[in-house]
Parts: sequence; C-alpha cells; structure tokens
Amino acid sequence: MNVDSLLHRWPHTTGALWCAAALVVSIVLACAVRRVRSHRSYQRDPLRVFSQQDKATVSAWCGGRCEHKPLLLPRCRARGTAGDHLVPHSKGGPTTLENLQMLCTRHNLRKSNKTPSRLYLYRLAARRHAYFPDGQPRLPRR
Ligand SMILES: [Zn+2]
Repeated sequence: MNVDSLLHRWPHTTGALWCAAALVVSIVLACAVRRVRSHRSYQRDPLRVFSQQDKATVSAWCGGRCEHKPLLLPRCRARGTAGDHLVPHSKGGPTTLENLQMLCTRHNLRKSNKTPSRLYLYRLAARRHAYFPDGQPRLPRR
C-alpha cells in the first residue's frame, strides 16, 4: 500500500469513522439522560406508613383478601395483610386511601417498588367496582 492509495481512501474512511463516533456518542448521551431521569428525586409524601384505620377499611372492603390477580388466574386467596402503595412511595405515590391496596406478604414482596402498568390498574379498578363502596375512589390520580 503506498501513500497515494491511503490519501485516496482518507476522505471516505474518516466520514465513516465520524458517523460511527457520532452514533456512539448519541447512544451514550441517551443512556445518561435515561439514567438521570430514572434517579430523579420525587416529591415524597412525608407520611410513609398507612394508618391502621385506612388498612382496616380497605381490608374490610376487599374481604380481608389479597387484591392481586394474575392475568389468567383467579384472585389470590391469601389474607391481605400488607398495606401497599399502588404508586410506590419512593416514586411519589401518596399515602392515601385511594393509593392503598391490600396484598399478601408474598405479592407485596414481589411488587416491591414497581409502578403497576396501566393494564394492571385498569383491571384493579374493574375488580374494585364489585367490592368497593360507591363513591370511593378506586385508583390514585395520575
Ligand atoms: Zn397474594
């Protein structure tokens, strides 16, 4: 390979390198922005734990059972002992009656601080239509 052939290829090679570098930089920036957004601090409700009265109220409405229902299976039959934030407290979910769902220990641990999908919330609201009293909010406001 002589110098003339290198000089002849130079413009095409650098163009491809610049495109690859620009692609890598844009991917890295997109990942950084996504990471910052996922770690942003939410405005948290100063009240962290549901009151015993709120838990007793919702527990009575749902028959003392866990409110989790898998997509194709019947509703969980275990006792709903844990008051869970539907929208997690760590993600700005309020400690209010409409953001409370009763879960068994297993489903509470499994849910952790995940935000439920729109489908899950829709299905929960539809189920709560049967056992929540009229006029009570069935889901937290988004
Ligand atoms: Zn359960």
